[in-house]
Amino acid sequence: MRCSVIGVLLFSLTLLVTVIVASTDYYKILDVPRDAQKAQIKRHFKKLSRVYHPDKNSGDEAASQKFMEIANAYEVLMDDEKRSIYDRYGEEGLKNGGGGGGHGFGGGDPFDIFSHFFGGGHRQGHQERRGPDIIIPLEVTLEDLYNGAEIEVDISKQVLCDHCHGSGARRPEDIHTCNTCDGRGVVVRRAQVAPGMFQQFQQECTACNGKGKITEHVCPSCSGKKVRRGNENYSIHIERGMNDAHKIILEEEADESPDTIPGNIVFVTRTAPHPTFERRGDNLYTKQHITLIEALVGFKKTMSHLDNSIIELERSGITQYGYVQTIKGLGMPHQDNHSQHGDLFVEYNVVFPTKIDEETIEYLKKGSTFPTKNQPKLVHQEL
Ligand SMILES: [Zn+2]
Ligand SMILES: [Zn+2]
Repeated sequence: MRCSVIGVLLFSLTLLVTVIVASTDYYKILDVPRDAQKAQIKRHFKKLSRVYHPDKNSGDEAASQKFMEIANAYEVLMDDEKRSIYDRYGEEGLKNGGGGGGHGFGGGDPFDIFSHFFGGGHRQGHQERRGPDIIIPLEVTLEDLYNGAEIEVDISKQVLCDHCHGSGARRPEDIHTCNTCDGRGVVVRRAQVAPGMFQQFQQECTACNGKGKITEHVCPSCSGKKVRRGNENYSIHIERGMNDAHKIILEEEADESPDTIPGNIVFVTRTAPHPTFERRGDNLYTKQHITLIEALVGFKKTMSHLDNSIIELERSGITQYGYVQTIKGLGMPHQDNHSQHGDLFVEYNVVFPTKIDEETIEYLKKGSTFPTKNQPKLVHQEL
């Protein structure tokens, strides 16, 4: 009996030690400094979740685990109350009911957070200002649309200064509440408008330019401008069968400004002209040249498809000029169902000979059949 009590005690101790050892650093997970602002946390979360999201790593247990960690860290650091508990008491503090919602996701689904960023209905709960969207045409090849592709795009945009995270100050301690206006940004003045009559009016505080705060030492990196030009690399997923003028939205990835929610970057696909194929809806159209002899007696030939597979074209007997052959299922894949394809339409254009010899002309005029030994001598240019 006593033995088992000690056993349980020891076991609990081991558990406790394990928990302390396994205590995770949310800041490290999201690769942000401890004083990081929400915009920066959000940015890092989005970057990391693009890499580790299970949709991109199906069956990869490690990636899935990593994604859960990222989402958990994000959930805590974006919640002022949870973050302050975490800062003071660590992960344990959150587990002990400090966060109000137990531990972990507190009932929230990490995938919900993700869907908010990528195509989900993200509600802007509060009245924060929102920056403008950036619309960027994205030229894609028909090959990309047929096979699917990841396109790397470099976008130059305004980002918050890495050094001051958009505060404009050298250190957070360098920002003080303005003494002149007590942080209100406005001062009340009294003016005598007539003997014994005073009027009060509000004026923007000149000491802090209405900001309510004074920065003692500006950030050496951005000279107090709070922002800089930055370059961000995005990997854009082109889905098989995606339509022309399709909008790919990267939520809140446009220019960053302090106290502003960035607008979206919206890529609009534009299909580049293709030398061989033309797309109309899910069908593909192409033209093939055949010689007069091929038009008369039939032919077998091949052409290369958008995925480099070989299309076999075969006709027996006469092929009229402009005849269109339908090849089922060799068109574009449907965007909603990749296993289904549109059709391929091949239009045949007959190229007539450039020269014809006297002998053949005579035979043709007679309307008689060609002698078996003398084949008609129709000379074609190289097709
Ligand atoms: Zn700065
Ligand atoms: Zn002031």
